Amino acid sequence: MLSKRIENMNPSVTVELTAKIEALQRKGREILTFNVGEPDFNTPDNICSAAKKAIDQGFTRYTPVPGILELREAICKKLGDDNNLAYTPDEILVSTGAKQSLINGVLALCDPGDEVMVPTPCWVSYLEMIKLAQSTPVSVGTRKEDGFQLDIEQIKQSLSPRTKAIILNTPNNPTGAVYREETLRELGALAVKHDFYIFADEVYEKLVYTGEKHISIASLSPAIKERTITINGLSKAYAMTGWRLGYAAGPEKIIKAMNSLQGHMTSAPNSITQKTAIEALLGSQEPLTAMREKFDQRRQYIVSRLNKMPGITCADAKGAFYVLPEVSSYYESRYKGKVLKHSADLFEFLLEEANIAVVPGAAFEAPDNLRISYSNSLENIKERMERMEKALGLLK
Ligand code: PLP
Repeated sequence: MLSKRIENMNPSVTVELTAKIEALQRKGREILTFNVGEPDFNTPDNICSAAKKAIDQGFTRYTPVPGILELREAICKKLGDDNNLAYTPDEILVSTGAKQSLINGVLALCDPGDEVMVPTPCWVSYLEMIKLAQSTPVSVGTRKEDGFQLDIEQIKQSLSPRTKAIILNTPNNPTGAVYREETLRELGALAVKHDFYIFADEVYEKLVYTGEKHISIASLSPAIKERTITINGLSKAYAMTGWRLGYAAGPEKIIKAMNSLQGHMTSAPNSITQKTAIEALLGSQEPLTAMREKFDQRRQYIVSRLNKMPGITCADAKGAFYVLPEVSSYYESRYKGKVLKHSADLFEFLLEEANIAVVPGAAFEAPDNLRISYSNSLENIKERMERMEKALGLLK
């Protein structure tokens, strides 16, 4: 009955897990969530005030599909100031979250039979979006030993005459890697030489630590910019996940096509959110700095704490708010007579024994790992890491 397109698609594991955990919490279980992909901070006051003002001014009607001009101008200013990228408002499309910008882009460029490379481990939705376009995802592995940096040799080996694009995510969910400029230059040169497109998902751009610098690949040369669709949004940087605002910047012809698609599916995002986004982008950035400092403290703690646990190794995450510890030394161990075989079993075990919700790494193409989000208070992180270590001690 359902279309092949849908039958081929896996539901979002993270969305499903959230529903399961919420159901357990409603039954009274004291589960602490280390699975969520959103900041635990509230949206800053100046941003909320802008929303109230927009409502009071009656800014409640349809807006142009690509977003109001004032917001697209603010995005152009942000891209110029922060990313060394010159765009005009005609090269910007505002969407209902970065997620929508991404799927718009994939559907606008990719045909059945096209191949789209994805460095893995990767965010859960990329492979499914590519499949929705009836294109073929081609996973290109990255390694913990290289800090999960892009492996250009592997990318070269994965190229084929059908390669249409690559989806990049820096800073990366789930690895926390921040891609180095020289590697991005090499990738950009490959894209120009072999004529493929780059989707550059930069939603975690503001969350970089250890003096790392986020580089927008489109800023590296005009020829690379011609082939890049830069995707960003307000969810992670401004703790605005529920407001739903993302955007894409790219060549006008592609942006126009994405706009047509959006015009038939959802139209522009919420009018109030669009006004609010102008304040987020151009107003005080102080709340963001405070949030980043907190994330950094937690990051340092959790990486060193996990590395002290027997049988676990954890790479130093340099961006976003996730760590991806390797836990496969616990596979094949026993708990209450049951053998824990893979990351989903370990996830269930930690949920039951330590009341801690993480995400099985398999959901991110990282079967030897768990993904842990440190979007939680340092106090909670400390307490649950203790519990996690104790629980792991029960495994035989
Ligand atoms: N890209 C990555 C890598 C993400 O982790 C997420 C959210 O988890 C998104 C995009 C979607 O962001 P938005 O809330 O703007 O749709």
